[in-house]
Amino acid sequence: MTQSEALSAEALADLRRRYRLERERRVRPDGAQQYVAAEARFGYYAEDPYAAEESGREPARDRVDVAVVGGGFGGILAGARLRRQGIGRVRVVEKGGDFGGTWYWNRYPGIHCDVESHVYLPMLDETGYVPEWKYAPGEEIRRHAVRIAEKFDLYADALFSTTVTSLNWDETSGAWVVTTDRGDEFRATYVVTATGTLTELKLPGIPGIEDFEGHTFHTSRWDYAYTGGTPQGGLAGLSDKRVGVVGTGATGVQVVPELARDAGHLYVFQRTPSTVDVRGNRRTTARDVGADHHGWARERRDNFLGIVSGEHVEDDFVADRWTSSAGLLEKLLPSFRRQDDRAALEAAYEVADAAKMNEVRARVEQVVTDPGTAERLKPWYRYACKRPTFSDLYLQAFNRDNVTLVDTADTQGIERMTARGVVVGGTEYPLDCLVFATGFSVGNSGILSGRLPVHGRGGVQLRDAWRERGPRTLHGFTSNGFPNLIQLGGTQSAPSVNFTHVLDEHAVHAAALVAAAEARGAVIEPSRASEDAWLAVLAEDAPDHEWFHAECTPGYYNGEGRGRPNGAYAYPHGAFAFHQLLQRWREESMDEVLATGTSARG
Ligand code: NDP
Repeated sequence: MTQSEALSAEALADLRRRYRLERERRVRPDGAQQYVAAEARFGYYAEDPYAAEESGREPARDRVDVAVVGGGFGGILAGARLRRQGIGRVRVVEKGGDFGGTWYWNRYPGIHCDVESHVYLPMLDETGYVPEWKYAPGEEIRRHAVRIAEKFDLYADALFSTTVTSLNWDETSGAWVVTTDRGDEFRATYVVTATGTLTELKLPGIPGIEDFEGHTFHTSRWDYAYTGGTPQGGLAGLSDKRVGVVGTGATGVQVVPELARDAGHLYVFQRTPSTVDVRGNRRTTARDVGADHHGWARERRDNFLGIVSGEHVEDDFVADRWTSSAGLLEKLLPSFRRQDDRAALEAAYEVADAAKMNEVRARVEQVVTDPGTAERLKPWYRYACKRPTFSDLYLQAFNRDNVTLVDTADTQGIERMTARGVVVGGTEYPLDCLVFATGFSVGNSGILSGRLPVHGRGGVQLRDAWRERGPRTLHGFTSNGFPNLIQLGGTQSAPSVNFTHVLDEHAVHAAALVAAAEARGAVIEPSRASEDAWLAVLAEDAPDHEWFHAECTPGYYNGEGRGRPNGAYAYPHGAFAFHQLLQRWREESMDEVLATGTSARG
């Protein structure tokens, strides 16, 4: 389809029909219930394959200044920013065997960050590190996480391979009592939670999944003992194996080229194709990215965040497919709320979206030589329905003789598994190994999901306090009744595709709160009036995206097709504006949350 045809009313109507059809083929009555967690009989899927053998340690029973729950970039940055504020004892508690979070767990072959490394890796100005590739491999990112943790001396007090099991506010000592699955019970004057967003791996609840006698694992726990090789490839153990991979999201797109190269035969079980745009990874020099003065990294990531938050920005430093498609992802959606002529804007959006998706589909046709395979790899939905992906290797992999694409859309996923393999459309595909690239449960932290019970003043559990009328926070960080508890990266703040940038701004904020409370001998706790005022800000311009997601193919963006209700879940004007708001508030209004004494605030 040419660009001009795409813009005709008839072509747009055809697209709308096609998109509706593709959605209807995929919506399942069981929605998110189709997945099973890696618990109980599936618990072995979540075991840590990377942790070093640890001899037992004495349970911690002491008191620290700050307990940080989670040692991914959120927790590391909180620790680093707290250190910069001169806070002495900061204890990070982390489930994995080291720092790194997502980059600790995900070490699958081909892993890269698909956001430019010079804006994604935090604290480049502070550490003097300049990434060598535009899109860094996972191991480089994991090492950078360790670099920051070492520089700010976070190893000294950290507890690894340890999961926090409860947080209880103790009025008498004015501290949180932190318990863990390793028998620790220590006190912390402040708690910062940095428990991440997509952390709990999920498996498809395929009938017969337990009958399969071959080898299986999830991409976030890659079994190199079985496959051989490293994240850079060389999976020699697969050379004579029939390997299947389920899932073609951002992870599947990165892992498929590696499996295609090294497996005897690869079967890619696809349900919904991703949009696979140009990657253009390349080596970069310090000069290319303007790393010739202190502050270069901050300027670059501010520039990126401005563009993807829909701000008017003159220059585009990163200049990649995130920034060129920003209008379809974030820029235009918030602006629907600001414009009077909504119909005209929606029409313009649809035309721009169709042009982009036609370009994406045309690329499939250009790259994939077999027309039938190319047809099945074309995505039929709007660009922002699913997380976009980028690769110059993925589509090409389907031109290999040892790669077979198996479309599972008609059966809404793999039908069933047998002792020998996978069944789709009545055909059994015998396999030696099946890799699940099936993603993660959505839930911003263990707190909201109830996995991590938090009891504040009077023993009230945070989850119960929010059960009836939803979350109540000031800026997403602090809540009345839960003194000295700061949540990072959570609900009612402002997310962005460059999540480490968001986490760093949150870490700066958290550290400033703690430092101010220390300086004044105060407790951090917003009043209910402060929470109400914040809820009013969120509600005033709350996003109207229900219509959009209701027309999308299912996925974790839209509750597996059930829609994404409108509501005051995030600051409506984007992350860039949110960070400016936070800075102003720290300069002018921070006293609002600093109460002297530990009594309850009204
Ligand atoms: P996703 O949830 O995005 O993808 C899961 C995949 O599994 C989908 O293709 C899904 O199909 C498929 N699937 C699930 N169940 C079945 C089934 N029964 N039969 C067949 N297929 C099935 O997980 P990812 O791990 O790919 O990505 C999760 C997130 O992690 C990303 O969105 C991104 O935020 C982050 N990420 C970031 C990267 C980066 O470079 N920054 C790299 C990798 C991940 P369907 O779409 O039809 O549901």
